[in-house]
Order: sequence, then structure tokens, then C-alpha cells
Amino acid sequence: MSEKLEIEALLPPEVAYDDYARYRALLAAAGLQPGDADFVHLRKRSIDARGRQPLVRLRADIWRTAPPAELFGPWFQYPDVSRARRSVIIVGAGPAGLFAALRAIELGIKPIVLERGKDVRTRRRDLAALNKEHVVNPDSNYCFGEGGAGTYSDGKLYTRSTKRGDIQRILKILVQHGATTDILVDAHPHIGTNKLPMVVAALRDSVLQAGGEVQFDTRVDDLILDGNHLRGVVTAAGVALEADGVILATGHSARDIYELLHRRGVRIEAKPFALGVRVEHQQALIDQAQYRRTDRGPLPAASYSLVHQTQWQGKQRGVFSFCMCPGGFIVPAATAPGEVVVNGMSPSRRDSRYANSGIVTAIELEDMDLPRYGALAGLHLQQQIEQRACQLAGNTQLAPAQRLGDFLKGKVSSELLETSYQPGLVSVNMEQVLGPGLAARLRQGFENFGRKIPGYATNAAQIVGVESRTSAPVRIPRDPATLQHPETKGLFPCGEGAGFAGGIVSAAMDGERCAEAVFAGF
Ligand code: FAD
Repeated sequence: MSEKLEIEALLPPEVAYDDYARYRALLAAAGLQPGDADFVHLRKRSIDARGRQPLVRLRADIWRTAPPAELFGPWFQYPDVSRARRSVIIVGAGPAGLFAALRAIELGIKPIVLERGKDVRTRRRDLAALNKEHVVNPDSNYCFGEGGAGTYSDGKLYTRSTKRGDIQRILKILVQHGATTDILVDAHPHIGTNKLPMVVAALRDSVLQAGGEVQFDTRVDDLILDGNHLRGVVTAAGVALEADGVILATGHSARDIYELLHRRGVRIEAKPFALGVRVEHQQALIDQAQYRRTDRGPLPAASYSLVHQTQWQGKQRGVFSFCMCPGGFIVPAATAPGEVVVNGMSPSRRDSRYANSGIVTAIELEDMDLPRYGALAGLHLQQQIEQRACQLAGNTQLAPAQRLGDFLKGKVSSELLETSYQPGLVSVNMEQVLGPGLAARLRQGFENFGRKIPGYATNAAQIVGVESRTSAPVRIPRDPATLQHPETKGLFPCGEGAGFAGGIVSAAMDGERCAEAVFAGF
């Protein structure tokens, strides 16, 4: 036998999720006995639920001799950049900003990270006030603050990007900062909202220990423009900062940043985005449908991914599930008073009784009032629907909701179900919130999903509005070669807010790319 034997096995969940039983089963599959191997390294784990009973597919390396040290990390080192000749301002400490900072350090550039929100621990208090007292702090909420929108989320780490090498690199950086090694193995990796804050704080510590700067409660309010060259930024406290480049990683909810760019003549563009509702079921219903067993045993809470093409007034549009959170919670994701926005998150064990998912449809440029609002037309539409949701539900963070069967019949619900949404729900005709076109498309989508998952589109579920922060309604353009704004030198639009990422991993990858682009420009 060579040093390493690659093995694949299909095992019952009870074996696959038990460390010792799995070890023995993998050795047996290779024709070995315990003691024949030095180390069994799990490489991939996915659930195959197509048969009568769900099985777990494992790929592993069995090492007969000691495995190489690089299997275990640490994989990355961050040199001291406190006296570096070059510096970069990074606006926003979300995944894009934090990963840009770490990559800048690797390249010998000092990052200065400016974040409008609070550090990850202090931020928690504002989330409690939001959930319990309905107070929305416009600088500290589920979207703003250290770690960005990704911190109090599900921490789902899958991405549609095909750059596998880069994805693995991001996952390894997360593991080096405290995430479980399971994320290197699972087909659908996730960290969980209870563990993400610790990982985010460790990422920040790496930046600080290397001599980078991270400033909280520091909102960027203005730009230092020298003709068509961005030299730096001005904070809300009036402090002017200059550097060799500005990476703008402010996320899709920083409406004031889009308005600032527009006002200062930096070109931005309206962009299609998706909008809809969040649907909530009992997790047991989803487990039963996906696993065909009422008790899922050691299997993770089941998820789903659904899509259906709809027709309305002669136009075809997809309705699809987005950011499905098995065993999770619906959370209030508004960033300003007077609007209601929902999103989903889940803890690492995904053990709440509820399954929730965004069900959304595309809002195209032709749906927006471009002649009137120009580049901010999508943003305006998004804001209008969020404000309507707030007004119809009574002007607090109570969210408008309707039981799904009632929504399909066009009937206001006389009673709502229990929910994971902490601020609470109000029974509303959701068509009034969404408008007839969106409501018609979502109805067609739900009817189709009900045919795919038994019990899905009934009064055992309810919809909660509105799921409107799926992606940015604005693009900040950039040159594909230099990653700088085509007309404004020194400005590197980055991450989800600029329209170049969707989700934690792709935002992190884009952050790294922008830091490399800053370096390449020297
Ligand atoms: P953001 O994370 O939005 O970060 C932008 C940062 O910039 C924020 O910290 C903000 O405070 C700061 N900022 C904004 N304006 C200014 C300013 N003027 N000055 C200084 N700082 C500023 N994605 C997944 O992949 N998996 C998930 O499970 C998942 N779940 C989610 C759950 C919730 C509740 C939410 C809200 C989002 C979720 N997402 C998830 C989406 C994911 O969080 C985003 O795609 C990702 O965080 C985008 O990264 P970013 O760095 O580009 O922007």
C-alpha cells in the first residue's frame, strides 16, 4: 500500500456521524483493521437522499504513515505592516473588507479599516434592542457592524463561484481563525450565528497584530476627490484620511454611500435585484419531505432549493428560494427606522423548530422608474416596499405576515402561526405590501413548490415580509483589469455593495482580489 489510500464510501447516517464508527467503516471499506492506519483524513461529506433511506457519501484519505503537516495548518502568516510604505483605506469590515485587509497585509500593505458600526460584541446589544424594543440604530444592526451582514447570519459558506482553489483558501483562513474543520469537508458548509462572532473577532485580531488599523464607530461621509482621483475619505467626525487606494466595501445596504457617490459625480448604475418574502415552516415538515423520516437522527436539519419560471403579463421571470435557513430564525434586517426587512439566520446546530427561506423573484430594470430616479431607481423601489411593509404592520418592527394557504386564496389570515421572528407578526394582506405583479409571481412559484414538497404550500406555513436585501440594487462599475472605477482612479469598488459578490465567500474572495489589484497598481 502507498502512503495514502483514497477511499469513497456510502454509509448510514448513524455510522457516518459517529467518529469511531466512521473510522472503522472507512478502514473496513479499504480492507484494513484499526491499527493499520496512522490517520484517516475526511475530504468530502455529502448527503445522498435519493434512495429510500438517506445515506452519507464520504471521501477520505487513509494515511499509513504520518500525514504531511500542511494538512493541519496554520496555513497563513501575516507579516508586520505597521511601518509599511504603502497603505490602503478599506471602508467596511464585512467579509469583503476583512479579507481585503488580510490579503493587503500578506502583500506588505498597511490596511486602515473604517467601520460605521461597533465591534462584534457591543453590536449584540443593538440587536437585542432591535428585537425587543423595535429600535433600529442606523449604524448598528443586522447589516452594519463588525463582520458586516455576514456576522449574525447562517454563515452558509457555499457559493456559485467555480473558483475552487480560492474558495478553499477562504475556508482555510476561516478555520485558522476558529471555524470548525467541518467546513473544509461538508458539501454545504456553514458556521452558525453563535460561532461567527468569535471567528470575526479573530480575523480582526490578525489585522491588528500585524500592525493594521481597525476603527469602529467611524462612518465615511465624504470623499477626498482630486479631479478624477480619489485620494481618501472624510469620516462623520470630520477626520480626513488619505492612502494609496480606497477599497469601498460597504455592502448592499449602505444607501448613504450610493447617494454620496451619486452626489459627488462618481458614476453608479441601477442594477436588477430580487425581492419577495420569507416563508416559515416547521423543520419537521421539511425533514420528512427530504429524508422521508420523522426523526432525522444525526442528520443535519434538511434544506431545500427551489426554482420555478413564472409568467405575468407576458413576461417570464424565475421565482426561487434564497438563503434557506434550516433550523433557523427570521430576523429583522432593517437599517433605518420606518422600514421592515426580514432575513434569516441559524445557529451552528441548526436546532430551532423552524425552517425559513427567502422566496424571491427578479426585479429587472424595466420594473424601475429609471427616467425619474436614474441610477437610484432600484434602491427607491426597494425602499418604497420596505416602508409600505412597515406602515401596513403598524410602524414598528412587527412584520406583515399571512398564512401561505390564505395568500394563495387571496384571503387575509384570521390567525397567524407561532414564529421564530422575535419582534412579532401582524396579519396583513401581503398583496398590498408587494403589489399585484410580485404577488402573482410568488403565488405561481408557491403553487409549483407545493407540488414538489408535500405540505409546503398550505396554511401550515406562513409568509413574512419583506425579503428585499438579497443583493445590491446599484452597481458601482469597475474596470475588469484594474478593478478601479473606470473614471475615478484610486477607487476600488468591492464586494456585494458594488455588485461583484453575493454571499460571504464570494465577498471575501472579491476583497482579496481588490487588495491584489491595489498592489498591482503600485
Ligand atoms: P457587508 O457584509 O454588507 O459589509 C459592509 C460593511 O460596511 C458593514 O459592516 C457596514 O457597517 C459597513 N459600512 C457601510 N457603510 C459604511 C460607511 N459609510 N462607513 C463605514 N462603514 C460602512 N451570506 C452567505 O453567504 N451565507 C449566509 O448564511 C448568509 N446569511 C445572511 C443572513 C443575514 C441576516 C444577512 C443580513 C445576510 C446574510 N448573507 C449570507 C449575506 C452576506 O452577509 C453578504 O453577502 C456579505 O456579508 C456581503 O459582504 P460585504 O463585505 O460585501 O458587505
